Amino acid sequence: MRKFLLGILLILLVVLLLYKSPFSGMYYYNAAKKMYDAGQYEQSIPVFEKSLFSDPKNLLARFNYVLALSKSKPTLSVQKKLYDMGNSKYEDEAKKYARFQAVSLRHNLLKGLEGNYIHNALMGNDILRWDLNTFPLKFYIENPDTVPPYYIKEVKNALNQWTDRTNFVKFQEVSDPDSANILIRFKNIPSDICSGNVCPYVVAYTEPVVSGNKILQKMELNFYKTNPKMQNFSAREIYNTALHEIGHTLGIMGHSDNPSDIMYSSSDGASLYAFYTSSLQYLSLNDLRTLALLYRLQPTISNTKNISSESLYYAPLILGSEDARLRKKLEEYSAYIRKYPNFAAGYINISSVYVDMGDFDSALAALDTAFPLAKTTDEQYLIYYNKAIIYYNNQDKSTAFNFALKAKAIKDDENINELLSDIKKL
Ligand SMILES: [Zn+2]
Repeated sequence: MRKFLLGILLILLVVLLLYKSPFSGMYYYNAAKKMYDAGQYEQSIPVFEKSLFSDPKNLLARFNYVLALSKSKPTLSVQKKLYDMGNSKYEDEAKKYARFQAVSLRHNLLKGLEGNYIHNALMGNDILRWDLNTFPLKFYIENPDTVPPYYIKEVKNALNQWTDRTNFVKFQEVSDPDSANILIRFKNIPSDICSGNVCPYVVAYTEPVVSGNKILQKMELNFYKTNPKMQNFSAREIYNTALHEIGHTLGIMGHSDNPSDIMYSSSDGASLYAFYTSSLQYLSLNDLRTLALLYRLQPTISNTKNISSESLYYAPLILGSEDARLRKKLEEYSAYIRKYPNFAAGYINISSVYVDMGDFDSALAALDTAFPLAKTTDEQYLIYYNKAIIYYNNQDKSTAFNFALKAKAIKDDENINELLSDIKKL
């Protein structure tokens, strides 16, 4: 019995030695290098990884591993491995070379997509888009009879332009609102939207409905039936606004800084009357490139769970670090606030960036500035909701609860009830 046990121990020891030691590291390295020299780059990768598992700091193995990665087909996992090597904890030539290779791979992947504004298209740190496999996207028009027929015609023309220009976006009208991805409705303009003689000129706005587990349930596209003077919008206003808002429903959650793009921010809230009525707008090449790139990234919020394919782009490689992204967002919203200091939206958006950065004081200050500027109940709801989130993060249960109740009094939806139950669990 004792001999038997000894035998097992000996085998275990040998296995352990082979498994994780410079000796086995060298064995796998030689095998991997042989494959690499024969031009079998993809096949050599898992063997290099075995070698590095045994001997993680081996420079020769690390360097040749990076070489093999950079000569392989740039699948999602190859992109990720190269990115990880470039951010490795070992400061050596292999890391430097991986960084260099990652930059040039990024450059190659983005060929033809130059000029995109993808950093502005994200929702905070989230990449939100539909699952391409569920196209055509289903849309439902809730109350078409409450507006002049040309409103509906122009909305459908705008949907068609997105289809014609992208070659991959497809829409289908459905008669059942529950099966719709995009819900289009026409609302009465709030009576208190003007302060004094100043009326923000809003034609429409879009809101994503996202459930707690990061599933995109719906996009709600809300048009106002009239302007604040109770006049109908012109056909061009409806068409141009629809083009812009459809961009949001497809997942472009921010705005371009360039006035020649349809997703330029002036189309929200502060548009000049002349801008809308004078000319027909078109999707720019940069709008199309941004959407194309968005649909090559692996989403973090979508209508399907765990979308993954080796043909996708690895987001950190394309977008840079989370830090860089947040700084870019902060710049975008600061510019918006400078342009439209009397609009609540800019302050609400910037507060969410502060939250992502962990700067809760600045987030609360931005929301306090937003509150007296809020013109719609949706904005007021967002302010209360975001305040509740901040106090929740600060572990201040009773203040969080109070703000959540105020939000719930405005709009009793799934998000607020979920937050309330999370606060109760504190
Ligand atoms: Zn917009």
